[in-house]
Amino acid sequence: MRYVSTRGQAPILGFEDTLLAGLAADGGLYVPEAWPSFSPADWRAMRGLPYPELTARILQPFVADAFDQATLTRLCREAYAGFGHPAVAPLVQLDHRLFALELFHGPTLAFKDFALQLLGRMFDDVLTRRGSRITIVGATSGDTGSAAIEACRDRANIDIVILHPKGRTSPIQRRQMTSVLSHNVGNVAVEGTFDDCQDLVKAMFADVAFRDAMRLSAVNSINWARVAAQIAYYAHAALTFGAPDRQVAFAVPTGNFGNVLAAWAARRMGLPIHSLILGANRNDILARFIAANDMSMRAVEPSLSPSMDIQVSSNFERLLFELMERDAAATSAAMARFRAEGRMPVPDAAWRRATSLFRASACDDDATIAEIARLDADGYLADPHTAIGVAAARAHMPADPDIPVIVAATAHPAKFPDAVERATGRRPALPARLADLETRPERFTELPADLATVEDFVRRHALRNAARNIA
Ligand SMILES: *Cc1c(COP(=O)(O)O)cnc(C)c1O
Repeated sequence: MRYVSTRGQAPILGFEDTLLAGLAADGGLYVPEAWPSFSPADWRAMRGLPYPELTARILQPFVADAFDQATLTRLCREAYAGFGHPAVAPLVQLDHRLFALELFHGPTLAFKDFALQLLGRMFDDVLTRRGSRITIVGATSGDTGSAAIEACRDRANIDIVILHPKGRTSPIQRRQMTSVLSHNVGNVAVEGTFDDCQDLVKAMFADVAFRDAMRLSAVNSINWARVAAQIAYYAHAALTFGAPDRQVAFAVPTGNFGNVLAAWAARRMGLPIHSLILGANRNDILARFIAANDMSMRAVEPSLSPSMDIQVSSNFERLLFELMERDAAATSAAMARFRAEGRMPVPDAAWRRATSLFRASACDDDATIAEIARLDADGYLADPHTAIGVAAARAHMPADPDIPVIVAATAHPAKFPDAVERATGRRPALPARLADLETRPERFTELPADLATVEDFVRRHALRNAARNIA
């Protein structure tokens, strides 16, 4: 399988280089040169496969030039072995025709573990073969840092340093990062804000000598492999409900568009998905796009669902490329105007293609709280992101009564205890395997928001681990 950039000006790469590159050299995003698809008989044969085997089967056409099937299956088994539920991604009924696909049983209690647990292992396997090491640096306001750390901990050829703003992440979020004592993990509490952390990371990447010496890399949400790994749970859910012989719909609380793009890909690969329902919070650019072809940027406002407080959904570019019938020049021009003018000009025909499949609605904080309370009254405790997905699903149930709607439950309620307590009066407990999080020892280094100091920390961290690896 070869991968092309949505902007058409970057080298065409195989899976391995696409994995390591992340962003394409022309600023675009890599997508498969041609979409693989499975026949109805192929899909039927996948029913009942254990989750890791199903993932390996679905990824096979995407990665065949980089991993043989035995290696891929092993990596998938290892990636999902640490999940806290034997079904990995269990389905729970919420209402008539309405189900939750629980994607929060991984090590950091959010859906990003599905892709990142596998990605860390894929990176490590490729780097071992190449005899190479990388250093991953990232900034976090809380959520993504822990998923990246869990993905990279104890990987032989990866060092990771995550910057968080000192005293400004929730205690749970900080402890999920700082209680990981693996020697290849470095946590830095920066004396500053999240923006300071992000500026430091950007400055490290811009320092070419440093970037090359450290072989800096990132595990951001535009990496194609992350989208690919997520296709499997949509397939798992659809097959459970009778696909390819029955249609299903999915509702997905959406921020960077990576999660729902995987659902779109599952449909492109032959699963009969009737509709894709986007849930947004008050940062409702995607809902405005679907309603009125209004893709215009506004200021990001904080909400009870912080992982969706986003105005520029980076993975949307991949859908745009498809909506524009894979016209890279047109995609590139639309993205350039979006950056320059804050408004994306999507041709009417492309917008109509989107609205024939996607539905969308937005929830403010009050509606989010009301949905958490309603679900709680029915016996289900949901986090604010999941609740937004459920509210969007309720607003867009397909007319055909045979079509079930499956909501991506993206985070465990205990990750957002304040919102859940506000809605239900109860503070959700962490799962047993994390119950002692508050008493685990922590390790982090406090540093000023100064580039030279932070680079020095990263350099020492990487050198120490390289030495340890040789010894
Ligand atoms: C990241 C995240 C989202 C948004 O997912 P995208 O792929 O960015 O659309 C939704 N909910 C939770 C809990 C998340 O962590």
